[in-house]
Amino acid sequence: MNQEKFSESIELRPLQDDDRESPEYVMTSLAGAITLGFEKGKFAREETVLRGLNILMTYKENCVANCSYCGVSRERRVPREETTFIRVKWPIIPVEELIERSVQVPHQMRRLCVGMLANRQSLDHSIQIIRQFHERTPLLISGLITASLIKKREDLERIRDAGADRVDIAIDAATPELFEKHRGRPVKGPHRWDHFWWVTEEATKVFEPGAVGIHLVAGLGETEQELLEACQKAQDMNVVTHLFSFNPEPSTLLGDHPQPPMGHYRRCQLGRYLINELGIHLHHFRFNAQGQVIDFGLEPSVLEKIVESGRPFMTSGCPDEHGETACNRPYGNGRPSEKIRNFAFSPTAQDIEDIRQQLWADLALDAQTVSEEEGLSVKAWEGGNLAELGK
Ligand code: SF4
Repeated sequence: MNQEKFSESIELRPLQDDDRESPEYVMTSLAGAITLGFEKGKFAREETVLRGLNILMTYKENCVANCSYCGVSRERRVPREETTFIRVKWPIIPVEELIERSVQVPHQMRRLCVGMLANRQSLDHSIQIIRQFHERTPLLISGLITASLIKKREDLERIRDAGADRVDIAIDAATPELFEKHRGRPVKGPHRWDHFWWVTEEATKVFEPGAVGIHLVAGLGETEQELLEACQKAQDMNVVTHLFSFNPEPSTLLGDHPQPPMGHYRRCQLGRYLINELGIHLHHFRFNAQGQVIDFGLEPSVLEKIVESGRPFMTSGCPDEHGETACNRPYGNGRPSEKIRNFAFSPTAQDIEDIRQQLWADLALDAQTVSEEEGLSVKAWEGGNLAELGK
């Protein structure tokens, strides 16, 4: 749906005839609901073990923001019972039962993520729920912050004091222009780019070093260079990036927008991993005129080893007490029938082979597209990482 058509057709979602609201109830990821026995189902890949429980506030009027890609946005025209978030149903579950089962049911989850909505009660309710889980379960806790609700540093201190050891700020869009377009004034949303980065910076003063992250969504119209510049900007603040692939939600403004090409996502994943996990600076990377990565600045054999490890392509998320990803979000970016974008488990040899095929598959091959400023020639590029990877 184009923006004009969407604007004509939108209407505020009516109040839902459903009394289940936070802080007594929360929306729970389907994977979490299955793991704790609230829903029936199993993961398509048997290697999958859920390591993080993701919950989200829920209200009759839903979120007051209106992000163009979001399944819980104010103007999405579906009843709450049919609401999906990242295209999967999120069952509404009583917090009390969730806490009880988190301690009674055997599972391997190590972290809880408490996600806010842009609703004025959501900050207080999140803090209340964080405190309850912190006092009654052994789970580590992340606060997934809606930055527009944070007005002062003390708000972040309250989240920390309730028991969260980490926070992430869902910046989502990689550039100020895309942020404004998808989350700001054009969609009648309250979110502002500068404020989100201000909150990110404030959070680094409140939480332990390395305990702040941002979310970025690949596929909102950014180039790979723009997305990786945002990763580097965050890394320069000692803030890690947790990466998501855009996945269209029906009945949202971007409901008909395609997912980013797999090559775009794989190169963003690999670049993010090099920046965040290996401390390689973006200025070692080379891009073509379309902003696609054509060289990660590493010896081909070194890059191949990194690809072969599979780690860059595993879900990036908040860690457990050993530094391993706990928030592994199985099928958070796509249906089981689709190609996996974020691996919730260590990719198999066959998965790595698929990744190798995807990594450079959609790269613009036109010599004209290589930026003259970069001083690169296609010849040099073909003789580099690309050839070594067998593409
Ligand atoms: S990475 Fe996962 S646990 Fe961390 S804030 Fe994001 S969704 Fe929550």
